[in-house]
This record gives sequence, structure tokens and C-alpha cells, in this order.
Amino acid sequence: MPLQKTPQNPKKKRIPKCPICEKPLPYDLNDPNPPPYFPFCSERCRLVDLHKWLAEEYYLSSPMRAPDNRPAKPSSE
Ligand SMILES: [Zn+2]
Repeated sequence: MPLQKTPQNPKKKRIPKCPICEKPLPYDLNDPNPPPYFPFCSERCRLVDLHKWLAEEYYLSSPMRAPDNRPAKPSSE
């Protein structure tokens, strides 16, 4: 069984990362004036997360699709 070296220091300050792209955040969490895209690294990631939620909600709130309502066309544009 190989020894796994995991130098995790519990006292070490955790670097806050963007939950979307996992880049280190370009600002301090203790910043009294966090950017509008907090807690993401950028406005782009904030929107990505927002769209993710909206898409999920839309999907969950439409349990049944009427098959005869609109014929589903294959996405060939
Ligand atoms: Zn990001």
C-alpha cells in the first residue's frame, strides 16, 4: 500500500475558488465591498451559474411535455 502524501495543513488559509471555473477568486472574501459577481470570479461565471439554475428549474417544472403540441424537429440547422 503506497503512502499518500497529503500535506494538508488545517491552519493554512483556504484560497477561495470560483465554484464554476475553480479559479482562485481575484478578490478577498473579507473585502467590505465585494464585486457584484461575488462569490464567482467574474460576471461570466455568475451568469453561467444563474443559467444552470434556471435551466434546472425549467426542466424540473415541466414534468410532462405534450408530444402533439409541437412536433420535435431534429436540430439540423
Ligand atoms: Zn469563474
